[in-house]
Amino acid sequence: MLLNTENRLVTDKQINQFFSPESKYTYEEYIQKTVHYVTNFLNNENFYSGESPSNLRSKTNLITANSNSTLSIDDTLKEIKELYLDHAIGFHHPNYVAHLNCPVLLPAVVGDIIASSVNTAIETWDQSTSATLIEQEIIQWICSKMGLPTISDGVFTSGGTQSNFMALLIARDHYAFKHFGLNLKENGWSSVVSKFRFFCSEKAHFSIKKNAALLGMGYNAVIPVETDDKMKINPNALVLAIEKEKQLGNIPIAIVATAGTTDFGSFDPLETIAKITNEYDMWFHVDGAYGGSYILTETHQEHLKGIELADSITIDFHKTMFQPVCSSAFLVRDTKYFKYISYYADYLNPLEHRDEDCPNLIEKSIQTTRRFDALKLWFTLKMTGDKAIGSFLEKVHYLALDLYHSIKDDPYFEIAHKPELSTLVFRYKGQGIQEEVLHDTINLYVKNTLFNSGQASVASTKLNGKVYLKFTLLNPKSTIDDLLNIIQMIKDTGRNYKNKN
Ligand SMILES: *Cc1c(COP(=O)(O)O)cnc(C)c1O
Repeated sequence: MLLNTENRLVTDKQINQFFSPESKYTYEEYIQKTVHYVTNFLNNENFYSGESPSNLRSKTNLITANSNSTLSIDDTLKEIKELYLDHAIGFHHPNYVAHLNCPVLLPAVVGDIIASSVNTAIETWDQSTSATLIEQEIIQWICSKMGLPTISDGVFTSGGTQSNFMALLIARDHYAFKHFGLNLKENGWSSVVSKFRFFCSEKAHFSIKKNAALLGMGYNAVIPVETDDKMKINPNALVLAIEKEKQLGNIPIAIVATAGTTDFGSFDPLETIAKITNEYDMWFHVDGAYGGSYILTETHQEHLKGIELADSITIDFHKTMFQPVCSSAFLVRDTKYFKYISYYADYLNPLEHRDEDCPNLIEKSIQTTRRFDALKLWFTLKMTGDKAIGSFLEKVHYLALDLYHSIKDDPYFEIAHKPELSTLVFRYKGQGIQEEVLHDTINLYVKNTLFNSGQASVASTKLNGKVYLKFTLLNPKSTIDDLLNIIQMIKDTGRNYKNKN
């Protein structure tokens, strides 16, 4: 037994909880027992237990009550099963079709266990060594898939939101430097920056506006441009919007094109937008958080044509490459653009010791301590392969199309669009009901009833002020029958609303 300075006892058992040579067998025991519980999670019948929020709250309140005594691995696993594993949302379940959460590939999980146990911090060479090289290899692989030039570069991020943040920041600081000789990183705000404007589709992800606000530029620095009936940005409206801002004395600095909008999976016309950014000397960012991975397919090459012209790209491997959260990347056309982010700290990466052979990835990241997230994808590429990932993505796209064809003539549904990716937005229409608001209410009732009962998780969104339901298909193991089964639940539940109200 050890004594610490406050005379509190620490047992051998506790000191052996560190990852260390003495605890090898403990490590194996913990992992094996844990694996057993996680495997049992797959036996949960529904995607969700349907436990009420108040019951979940009263269960989890016990955590603090227990804080004075410690538990064995068995008891702790038993407790977390009751608190969490029995009620966690199963993204692998065929009745989960709500958000952009994918079922994960097992090779990626293996990578994650290694990354967590070894606990490599990827920010400097002296904390990561070959892990840094592996991340860079993966980045070079995805840059070349995108068709970016050899001077392109990138970095893993926490997600599309952070990648889009980096894009807006670099676009802004580069424009300020190139056109006004300003060094915003060094000197901070300049009044001309208040006139800078970003342009994106009105269907673009909310993180564009949120990030503009975080950058001190405000939501109003983002000009949303109207979309056509396929939910793609209208290039004429885009040019008009740019001209209008110029007339107002504002300065258009960047266009954010979306390759796969979150709700409709629509692709903005990348080549046309590239031309417009060229004409106006603007930054060209492609938000491919959802659709970027489709570069691995044969079906979506045409949609992604022009992405090779981007100045920067967002891609989320945790959405469409079946990776556990987080796994995401930000790519730039030229590695030199990272100078707008880099910082040289005496204790980590002093400039005078800069060495190309031993890179410090912190110079490209807005994070400091950072997980070795690239390892998951490395395992996936080795064991699953990029061709199979491409086929999985094609499969979920065809599932969305199949579903579209199955329900488009059904009088109980109104379809918002023909899927370009793997989402379908539609609305249940109770027969004989005229009021749009009542349809809204019924659709929300359907969504909530299915969720609360643990039967199915369907998302909802709004289009032209009306409530729609949304299927996001990311499970290549799902079948059209699985989906039609959920469709039937929607009809039954919708009909029930009438009976109940
Ligand atoms: C999901 C999404 C994002 C945000 O990505 P996170 O990884 O959730 O931060 C950004 N853009 C689009 C188009 C998305 O679908």
